Amino acid sequence: MKVYEKAPAKINLMLDVLHKREDGFHEVEMVMTMVDLADRLEMEPLGRDTIIISSQAGYIPLDEKNLAFKAAKLIKERYEVKQGVYIHLDKKIPVAAGLAGGSSDAAAALRGLNRLWKLGIPEEELQRLGAELGSDVPFCVAGGTAIARGRGERLERIANPPQCWVILAKPPINVSTADVYGRLRADKIRKHPSLRQMTEAIASQQFHRICAQLGNVLEDVTLAAYPQVLQLKETMLRLGADGALMSGSGPTVFGLVTKESKVARIYNGLRGFCKEVYAVRMLT
Ligand code: ATP
Repeated sequence: MKVYEKAPAKINLMLDVLHKREDGFHEVEMVMTMVDLADRLEMEPLGRDTIIISSQAGYIPLDEKNLAFKAAKLIKERYEVKQGVYIHLDKKIPVAAGLAGGSSDAAAALRGLNRLWKLGIPEEELQRLGAELGSDVPFCVAGGTAIARGRGERLERIANPPQCWVILAKPPINVSTADVYGRLRADKIRKHPSLRQMTEAIASQQFHRICAQLGNVLEDVTLAAYPQVLQLKETMLRLGADGALMSGSGPTVFGLVTKESKVARIYNGLRGFCKEVYAVRMLT
């Protein structure tokens, strides 16, 4: 028997950092949602008690550093599963891009192995297991749209934003999330986005108000360090995106668009100087 799971990419419609905590993590407030750009996981039981990961993507670790491996190991140990598993990762989400590709793979592995091994683990428990693997994993387990607090693991589900196109562009640089948070001066943030305004805009399904409320305090760090990310964001807006923002710690920038007629123009305009561009739908 094989089990398949989709692992969609996430974007942050809002990302605020409130302060740095005693434990070294940052206290965040985020609004996260998913887009229709997804990795696909295939999971199959193995005769021997081992975890094997394979992928067509040559640029991710396939050993115990892979987040899907970590998820499988965690669930096996916690639930004393003696069977092994073979996991194939069909990677579509760009790596180290601010789109939580690895976290979504981990979440998909938790969901898939729960089914494969018929463990009957409730979703809240899967989220708790996910929090041990990374701050974004609980949201990736839950999916949909949510406010995330704490270090990202405390979730409050909210309505999905109205349907629209999402154009994603990833410049050819790798940005380390730890490095961006390390460089952020939480006490010197110039402008905090408004969680209340964003959640009200989503609740009332006002697309243009959502675009006006997009905000990510990590842009202060990444845009200053990598001017090409700022340039990408400005180009996205100049080409007609209704709103644009860097996702997570970057470097991917996304643009939101309602009119389908604008999508090709923005996509082609960006492709002129950025190789990795995707035009996808919001997952609603
Ligand atoms: P986030 O938005 O949660 O910070 P990200 O999109 O910036 O995540 P990922 O694509 O999750 O970053 O990759 C971060 C690191 O994790 C990379 O250096 C990569 O080598 C490693 N990694 C481990 N497992 C995976 C996986 N299954 N897919 C992608 N990257 C993985």
